[in-house]
Amino acid sequence: MYEFNYKRPSTLDEAAALLNEDTVLLAGGQTLLPTLKQRLAQPEALVDLSAIESLRGVCPDGDQLAIGSMTTHAEVAAKATIPALASLAKGIGDAQVRNRGTIGGSIANNDPAADYPAAVVGLNAVITTNKRAIAGDDFFTDLFETVLEEGEIITNVTFPQPDAAAYMKFDNPASRYAIVGVMVAKTSNGIRVAITGAGPCVFRQTEMEAALSSNFSTQSIENINVSADGLNSDLHASAEYRANLIKVLAKRAVAQIDG
Ligand SMILES: Cc1cc2nc3c(=O)[nH]c(=O)nc-3n(C[C@H](O)[C@H](O)[C@H](O)COP(=O)(O)OP(=O)(O)OC[C@H]3O[C@@H](n4cnc5c(N)ncnc54)[C@H](O)[C@@H]3O)c2cc1C
Repeated sequence: MYEFNYKRPSTLDEAAALLNEDTVLLAGGQTLLPTLKQRLAQPEALVDLSAIESLRGVCPDGDQLAIGSMTTHAEVAAKATIPALASLAKGIGDAQVRNRGTIGGSIANNDPAADYPAAVVGLNAVITTNKRAIAGDDFFTDLFETVLEEGEIITNVTFPQPDAAAYMKFDNPASRYAIVGVMVAKTSNGIRVAITGAGPCVFRQTEMEAALSSNFSTQSIENINVSADGLNSDLHASAEYRANLIKVLAKRAVAQIDG
């Protein structure tokens, strides 16, 4: 490792005041620390969010579930009152990753194979930062890209309670990252189908949403032709394989909700 400064503020305002173009936020460090070790990032200072208590916790409030950005995947798995979300968190990585990795770090990083983006978009969540509230649909823009601006800190993610939801993933057996992950949800805003792992960034499968809105059954998506155009192709799976997985996993999610 090379030398850098390390700051551990105890309030959000202090953290925000420390941020500039040469500093980087540290959450669980599961992505950031390997990045530093490989010299892919060389900030002058890390601003560790772990002492800011207001950023932690799973807080159900009526038909909303607010989760602090520094809440670990293990805490979400244990406490989230949306079963599909708890199950998604339980399926992330291994116990070590789940005990360190955070929901805020995951969505800020926007790895194309991460699980949470499917929950944020599929469940129609809202991301709150120290500056604004951002609809989940608008948050993820491209591979490892989000609308977050310099100096912006995610404070929490609020999920409306869905009428029903299920998340299915076909995971990489080594890392458990999603080769493809599909969240299907019946929400107050209609049916949502969000896909992670398959493309450069999470996206909604609007054709399936329309079909499931008129008839919520596995048969209604059976004849949808999922195109492989623009999907990821790598040593784990071709674009065509991922396209097929989208339909297979969407049907499994629908079957779980229906069952
Ligand atoms: C072996 C392994 C297996 C994994 N398997 C999976 C998996 O199956 N599914 C999955 O979804 N993920 C998986 N992950 C990812 C992991 O779960 C973490 O979510 C991810 O690495 C980032 O979260 P973190 O809290 O560690 O963030 P960090 O690594 O600390 O930070 C990541 C980035 O987010 C920024 N950031 C952090 N917090 C905030 C905030 N509050 N506001 C704004 N920016 C912020 C940081 O500055 C940094 O750029 C795996 C990771 C490893 C190492």
